[in-house]
Amino acid sequence: MSKIIKDFKNIKYGPAPEDNTEVLEWIKKLPNPNHIFINGDWRRSASRKILHSINPSNNKKLFNLSVSSKADVDKAVKAAKKAFFSWSKKEPFERSKYLYSLARLIQKHSRFLSVLESIDNGKPIRETRDIDIPLVARHFYYHAGWTRNSIHNNQKPIGVIGQIIPWNFPLLMLSWKIAPAIACGNTVVLKPAEFTSLTALFFAELCQKANIPQGVVNIVTGDGTTGQHIVNHNLIDKIAFTGSTEVGKKIISNTASSNKKLTMELGGKSPFIVFEDADLDSAVEGVVDAIWFNQGQVCCAGSRLLVQESIEKKFIKKLKNRMEKLRVGDPLDKSVDIGAIVAPVQLKKINKLVNQGKKDGAQLWQPSWSCPTNGLFYPPTLFTNVTPSSLIAQVEIFGPVLTSLTFRTPSEASSLANNTPYGLAASIWTENINLALDVAPKIKAGVVWINSTNLFDAACGFGGYKESGFGREGGEEGIRAYTVNSLPTRKILKAKPQKLIKNILNIDRTPKLYLGGKQKRPDSGYSYPVYAANGKDFICDVARSNRKDVRDCVEIASKVVEKQLTNFNRSQILYYLAENLEQREKNFIDLLVSLRGVSKSLARNVFLQSIERIFYYASMADKFEGQVHNPPIRGLTMALKENIGVIATILSDHDPLLSLVTCMSAAFATGNTQIIVPGQKTSLLATELYQVLDTSDIPGGYINILTAKESELNSTLSKHENIDGIWYFGDSQSSQTDIIKNSTSNLKRYWCPKEKNIDWTNSSKVFLDEFLYQSTQVKNIWIPYGE
Ligand code: NDP
Repeated sequence: MSKIIKDFKNIKYGPAPEDNTEVLEWIKKLPNPNHIFINGDWRRSASRKILHSINPSNNKKLFNLSVSSKADVDKAVKAAKKAFFSWSKKEPFERSKYLYSLARLIQKHSRFLSVLESIDNGKPIRETRDIDIPLVARHFYYHAGWTRNSIHNNQKPIGVIGQIIPWNFPLLMLSWKIAPAIACGNTVVLKPAEFTSLTALFFAELCQKANIPQGVVNIVTGDGTTGQHIVNHNLIDKIAFTGSTEVGKKIISNTASSNKKLTMELGGKSPFIVFEDADLDSAVEGVVDAIWFNQGQVCCAGSRLLVQESIEKKFIKKLKNRMEKLRVGDPLDKSVDIGAIVAPVQLKKINKLVNQGKKDGAQLWQPSWSCPTNGLFYPPTLFTNVTPSSLIAQVEIFGPVLTSLTFRTPSEASSLANNTPYGLAASIWTENINLALDVAPKIKAGVVWINSTNLFDAACGFGGYKESGFGREGGEEGIRAYTVNSLPTRKILKAKPQKLIKNILNIDRTPKLYLGGKQKRPDSGYSYPVYAANGKDFICDVARSNRKDVRDCVEIASKVVEKQLTNFNRSQILYYLAENLEQREKNFIDLLVSLRGVSKSLARNVFLQSIERIFYYASMADKFEGQVHNPPIRGLTMALKENIGVIATILSDHDPLLSLVTCMSAAFATGNTQIIVPGQKTSLLATELYQVLDTSDIPGGYINILTAKESELNSTLSKHENIDGIWYFGDSQSSQTDIIKNSTSNLKRYWCPKEKNIDWTNSSKVFLDEFLYQSTQVKNIWIPYGE
């Protein structure tokens, strides 16, 4: 018996290599350099520029990569544009069959794809075989079912989608992008990352086998310059990007004047929180999956371990034991845990950040064994004694490097968790479900895993908060990102000035700003005059806000947004607001007649519709709810609709009362705090409204009103780091462009509809719910169950 135990202890892993013959033969047969896939056919790139693609596990060259030029991208986009007309009109069932066919082909070639991905990217075959490729097939199956549903919801395809993907999950990212896009009737031009293009090229062969109509899927290989050609092409209607926050911000700026739709899936520095009552052995396995899965090159990697102080020593000891047993090596060895880093530049980046961590005083620990030296390998690495603000605790290392910090209380855990500009994901480990479900909503992240990590499914949306980007991939939210709901428009009628209605305001009354539930004089000490619609009759002077007023306002709004009212509270308050507004019918009608020059009967209609609108959002405060998904695991995923935070809304003078109550009530119903800047000429309607807010139990700071001259607060609001969302309904294209560019400072959720003559009187559910949709973001909380 003792011999058996002795032998068992000394047992060594033997190599378990996966056969790569077929894949290497396929790579060998590729044209040199590779051809690109345009309009259903292979063609040589017009550019002479090539790059060498390597196998990161042995540093040997794999093939020569074509860097597609502007002319290549142009051909691909035009092919996609042409294909869009017929593809978008195809019967949903027909499109469904194509997606199903792709799903089946992926399954039929699953082993080939797994090996190809491992060779190209360096990730272990265990992961490509068991995670990446099955999920790719799942995405095509799932989206095959959305072709019909998206039509039912009245959503229309957008057009040609430019898709730019990174190297960490090459084929999986392709499927996240292509499957929903073509399911909804769009056509695509996709650029894989320069380090990992092979599975995308093989996928193009599958598209040919599946007889995907010409031009529906186009694949252009290349580097960042090819990506830029896609971003800048004027026939592209939407860019779907996954990659670094830095490049994401550039894309937002470059497309700011174009009305292109965007989804941005960017970086992360996700917390992995271990409470003292957690099942520590499971949590250690969780850490392995969180940060050593795919060599830590995962946007949602749990790269910041936050462990409760009372168990720190014990937990770190267990973790080090486990790290000692991890195996780094040939990705095609089935027993390997950690494969190769994708490229020399990435390895250099990891080394640089690790050295910086050491310099900053953090304590480094690595297992005693050493990595193979024939490829781009890096050992699992743990940093303790890390300060929350140090570089390695803040920036995305994108490698197998874990930083560890401690906390004492749950509230300290959530504030440490939120202490980075990112907000992609979080893991919470505790045996106390009450604690887990209390902490999950407090973490500003698009995905929260309870007692689990790195779980993905096509039915559950994935995407970030804050600087981790916007838009979701997967689930119904993902479908919405590939469809468009145009806002209703109408011809703007020129007002025929009516006579000024005298005495609409008491003499000597100067409307002030409305901040934190109080009327406040502007810091500037300036006012501006407001005239009747005829442009001549002076009505009164209105307070003119400046930067200081914006700062004060944001400070108040960001404090109160943390104190959430219940949905029911918000609903009651809005009903009460409508009731109080009704009492002021005469004031508002008089103001509308004077400021807009409309007839009394029209003003009355607008007023009554405004009451109705507030009622609608009062009714929706407790009905615009999330979903519960059933992914194929033992567990559920709760898709919660959460508020954006502090939203700044810049209105125009067009339909001033209806636009004001629509934006204000929708954003309030969904739990945001707001800074509203009414149109300059019609700002008196907003200042009149704060009198009503005062009497309607709206807690101070939820709705704030800053009056100012046209556009003068735009820059301060759009650059402010503590404003989370910005809506612009003004007419100026250049202001809109500036707002979008400025919004990249902290990646605000911006909404600048391209329709400049919105029909605010439209009361269709689709139109009204768009405001609810724009004022929320979805957080997916994964709750596995069972022992
Ligand atoms: P990038 O953001 O640079 O690249 C992502 C994709 O965008 C690639 O296809 C890239 O092309 C392309 N691209 C690069 N520059 C431009 C541009 N100006 N316009 C349009 N497209 C462009 O990420 P990297 O791959 O270089 O990785 C750098 C860092 O980004 C990593 O260390 C990591 O921190 C982070 N990252 C985050 C990911 C995530 O999922 N959130 C994924 C990958 C990286 P090409 O690769 O051919 O240069």
